[in-house]
Amino acid sequence: MHELPGLVVTGASGRMGQTLVRLVAGSDKARLVGAVERPGNPWVGRDVGEAMGGAALGVVVTDDPLEAFAKAQGVIDFTSPAATVEFAGLAAQARAVHVVGTTGLEAEHLQRLSAAARHAPIIRAGNMSLGLNLLTALTRKVAEALGEDWDVEIVEAHHRMKVDAPSGTALMLGEAAAAGRGVALEEVSDRGRDGITGARTRGHIGFASLRGGDIVGEHDVIFAGEGERVILRHVATDRAIFARGALRAALWGQDRAPGEYSMMDVLGL
Ligand code: NAP
Repeated sequence: MHELPGLVVTGASGRMGQTLVRLVAGSDKARLVGAVERPGNPWVGRDVGEAMGGAALGVVVTDDPLEAFAKAQGVIDFTSPAATVEFAGLAAQARAVHVVGTTGLEAEHLQRLSAAARHAPIIRAGNMSLGLNLLTALTRKVAEALGEDWDVEIVEAHHRMKVDAPSGTALMLGEAAAAGRGVALEEVSDRGRDGITGARTRGHIGFASLRGGDIVGEHDVIFAGEGERVILRHVATDRAIFARGALRAALWGQDRAPGEYSMMDVLGL
């Protein structure tokens, strides 16, 4: 019988990191074999379970990613763009599957991920939830079916700590709607309306962002036609959905050829 794949969680003390440590440690499909934090983080050198305020998990937090990756088959990474590009190179060296949940990656980061993906699989998605990826596929289909007579507006809501708007997920939905219509989102996106903006331009895709409290993440894609509306909605109530998607991706990536993959590949959508 094969041993269960060993996984490392980077940014283990972060919001997603802790959710991932809990999920992987409790999974019967994978083993937690490492937890990485940056040098100087107070968790380094401590058992990750105890640092989280629970029982020991037998995994000590390290600030040496290569050492941790070397004994793993997969790395689950929800950190920052700068950290993620470094981890991509090291995961490739270790031939470990790299699951990237980090958002805010720019062209230069993406180039470095592509280079690393020549040596090992990288699975990346701005939103790893099954429901949201399904919503993305539906958005594309509905946009294609309804065409420009139906105005598309994307409304998202998040917790008060979120620093960027619109959310990466809202943009992903906008891309899907634009792709369904065969246009580029940059050409048609309407962001941040205020004051006398003039009438809505036909074919544009609008974005609106709400911020408050502890909202985990809500996205509505509104198709507004003459006399009727279709609204596709996803509501996240628990961060664990992103962690579950990431674990599924890490398992799916085992024995895959090197290359870049998305959650759509993982979910077969
Ligand atoms: P967070 O609480 O700030 O956690 C980020 C963690 O990464 C922190 O523990 C941070 O450590 C650590 N980190 C940063 N640089 C590092 C490095 N060089 N080496 C090791 N660890 C490092 O943020 P979060 O809410 O968990 O989100 C993390 C990322 O995931 C964000 O980009 C967020 O947008 C994204 N996200 C994606 C999804 C998805 O489904 N794709 C879902 C939720 C969140 P320090 O505290 O020491 O800086």
